[in-house]
Amino acid sequence: MAISIADNLGSVTRRIQKATMAAGREPGAVRLLAVSKTRSSDDIRAAVSEGVHAFGENYLQEVLDKMAELQDVPELEWHFIGPIQSNKTRAIAEHFDWVHSVDRLKIAKRLSDQRPDTLPALNICIQVNVDGEASKAGCAPDELPELARQLATLPRLCLRGLMAIPDPDQSDAQLQHSFKTLAEALKAMRADLPQAEALDTLSMGMSGDLELAIKEGATWVRIGTALFGERPAKS
Ligand SMILES: *Cc1c(COP(=O)(O)O)cnc(C)c1O
Repeated sequence: MAISIADNLGSVTRRIQKATMAAGREPGAVRLLAVSKTRSSDDIRAAVSEGVHAFGENYLQEVLDKMAELQDVPELEWHFIGPIQSNKTRAIAEHFDWVHSVDRLKIAKRLSDQRPDTLPALNICIQVNVDGEASKAGCAPDELPELARQLATLPRLCLRGLMAIPDPDQSDAQLQHSFKTLAEALKAMRADLPQAEALDTLSMGMSGDLELAIKEGATWVRIGTALFGERPAKS
């Protein structure tokens, strides 16, 4: 059966609105990041025609190809959300508006050094490994305060907040605990750093758990499957 991005967007938007209201948060407090990894540029065009403008991608070469195909589409906002190798930082610094997955100083320094002067500072979230063993990506919670202090001084980055990808196979209670841990870490960062005002971002929640994340304060939810359908297995 053909997937209707318009229908899916309608139901995702309703889920976001309902969860935002239930949490007693402002309408519009939660923004949708459409995760378009493995999707074609035509899928992205279809989402754009329904009013989506922010897209999250994980694989650099794939997204550079799609950016080239989408040059005629105005006002697209690109977010890098995947693991970052050193040799990819220049292209990321040159082509993206946001990076959600910074988890070490070396990568942050390269992104700052390589961000072109003609572009505004690159928006950054630090990825935190909120559930320990389950994943290797993300900085350890006890290393976060020091990393945040160092990152906050880099001139061509704008530190905006935190991102996490908790293990989706956990119980709802465990997931909610992970989201709460991230929200509390952001609060501590705001108390610790001079630029508290800019620290307005919690990137957390995906297709299966966006309600729990919004309850705990998500400001970006990163939605792939619920918008574009099941992803083909990556070979
Ligand atoms: C793939 C991906 C998503 C989207 O996940 P869905 O479950 O398909 O909504 C969100 N965040 C990151 C970092 C991803 O890699």
